Amino acid sequence: MAAGWGPLHAARIDFSDPLAPRSIDFDDAYHPRSGALAQARHVFLGGNGLPGRWAGRRRFVVLETGFGLGHNFLATWAAWQQDAQRCDQLWYLAVEKHPPHASDLARAHANSPLPALAAALVAAWPPRTPDMHPIALDDGRVRLLLAFGDIAAVLPELVASVDAFYIDGFAPDRNPAMWDPWRLRQLPRLAAPGATLATWCDASAVRQGLSAAGFSVQSAPVWSSQREMTVATFAPRFRSATPAGRQGMPEVRKVAVVGAGLAGAAVARALAGRGLAVDVLEQRPGIAQATSGNAGGLFHGVVHAQDGTHARWLRAAALHTGRVLQPLLASGAVHGAVAGLLRGERLLDATQMRQWLSQQHLPADYLRVVETSLVDASPANPSLAAGRPGWLYPQGGWAAPADLCRAWLAGSGITVHTGQGVQRLQQQAGGWAMLSGAGKPLLHADAVVLCHAADAAALLPAGAIGPAWPLRAVRGQTTLLPADTPGMPALHLPLADTGYALRLADGRLLCGATAQPDDADPSLRDADHQHNLATLARLTGWRPAQATKLDGRVGWRLQADDRLPLLGPLPDGLALAGLARADQPRLLPRLPGLYTFTALGSRGITHAALGGELLAAWLTGDPWPVPASLVDALDVARFVSRAARRAASSVE
Ligand code: SAM
Repeated sequence: MAAGWGPLHAARIDFSDPLAPRSIDFDDAYHPRSGALAQARHVFLGGNGLPGRWAGRRRFVVLETGFGLGHNFLATWAAWQQDAQRCDQLWYLAVEKHPPHASDLARAHANSPLPALAAALVAAWPPRTPDMHPIALDDGRVRLLLAFGDIAAVLPELVASVDAFYIDGFAPDRNPAMWDPWRLRQLPRLAAPGATLATWCDASAVRQGLSAAGFSVQSAPVWSSQREMTVATFAPRFRSATPAGRQGMPEVRKVAVVGAGLAGAAVARALAGRGLAVDVLEQRPGIAQATSGNAGGLFHGVVHAQDGTHARWLRAAALHTGRVLQPLLASGAVHGAVAGLLRGERLLDATQMRQWLSQQHLPADYLRVVETSLVDASPANPSLAAGRPGWLYPQGGWAAPADLCRAWLAGSGITVHTGQGVQRLQQQAGGWAMLSGAGKPLLHADAVVLCHAADAAALLPAGAIGPAWPLRAVRGQTTLLPADTPGMPALHLPLADTGYALRLADGRLLCGATAQPDDADPSLRDADHQHNLATLARLTGWRPAQATKLDGRVGWRLQADDRLPLLGPLPDGLALAGLARADQPRLLPRLPGLYTFTALGSRGITHAALGGELLAAWLTGDPWPVPASLVDALDVARFVSRAARRAASSVE
């Protein structure tokens, strides 16, 4: 189980000096009284040779230790905006142990000389959960990746190639943990060739620590005082190699995505958002037929007693879905809502639920406990039937999968080819050819991403992977009630437990779903409708009259035994033989240019957006939006390393 970064406490800030807010936790000012932006421009931008160093580049990556109130970020973003030579994409990764409340962030920037940027930062400020929060700004050209957690836990979990480090973590005597030599030794793993570093700190212990970590260190004058700051260039005597399973394809330009369902559409969107040319090949005649086919689907996190792999991934993924959906809902491109979702709790009482919340310090804008007994939930007064307590996910909701796929695939840089079934893959110099059943070449691309669920395994070249993927198709039947069904509850929020009930935008009520592994029956069954109506009654306390006309749908979700998607470059089965260690997915060699994102199970809308971003980051070498240990849990190669661990323990 991947260990989490929580629990997190919000920053406690003393604003009594209007020129220099102070951290109560560290008893130090966030920035000098002479001005945060001035310091940012001189020390962090100037000390790293910015804006000059990003000129003309596709990507430039900044890593800041101590995001604080975001002044350095705002100064960097503004400099990027004003620079005609700016890089195509600016990535700004920032670690923060005590994220401020949004209200404190707004207060800190109330008189900002960069009001529009500050307002955009405040508006995008995520809930204070111990996750990485990817935030796209400036039409996706500025990517802020906020890693909320202690630097000691976060740095080893980052995967990125950093061009400029901003080290800004309160004075070393107030906060030695931030400047610890062991912490500085994490930086080389993240440093791109030629990386630079700047900090206002001139402590000799810090300079020694940086030298020991492979930086060539110099001092530079500080504009506001007699003191000196520290600048450094990464000049290691030795560089450790990137593990085989973590390498990207920085030269990739053209990618083919097979399958136009949620996974394929999310991957296509994420790749096209990085300026790549994406061709999507879909066997079925249209996008609507390629998706789950349900009129609506839910997205939300989960909470467990321990903040383990599933809770962490589903939380980060659901929050990201909400973020990505908002503008699509606002423009009318997608039917759905990010207005909350209520999940019934069947095992715990409200006191135990609150204990979990307080042990994990999960913030109320992510999760709340609700225990009223009104039959009909409304956003103001959410509730479940029969007085059961529930978990309210204020940023959860629902979306129509076909709308979402269409909206994602409509992005520029994406060409969709429907009615094009790929039957065979052929590795060729510089990429992959996709062939039809008759062997006709359909397309050639630098890389291919297989996103067509159960059919993906059939396309794999011989020797692509070791053990077979432990996947199964699980039949699911939903039930749809007409909009004019007498007595139907309004259901202002989607309700869920092991099943769900949801009022669609057109007034119909969707409920379901059954979960029947290894059941190929395509017909609608009355017994399954009755199962779904029992779920509806459990959630809402209401059941339709016997005579109500029941509609519905049968579909199959592909699910892995551990209920996580399969994502990443496919392991190269032939290169595995003779490998000294195969117990960690990141160590496993991969087939160049062959990727998958599949097995989204019954949570496609939750998994898709963040999974697509991760796949695109993996492929292009952009900073990963997901901590490394969670990626190991999603990695399609995890079954190979699991088998290797089992084999090793049976030998011992
Ligand atoms: N760079 C910020 C800005 O532009 O507003 C100011 C940063 S402030 C001087 C230092 C920040 O480091 C604080 O927000 C503090 O919470 C954070 N910090 C301190 N110790 C940390 C740790 N161990 N891990 C992560 N962040 C930490």
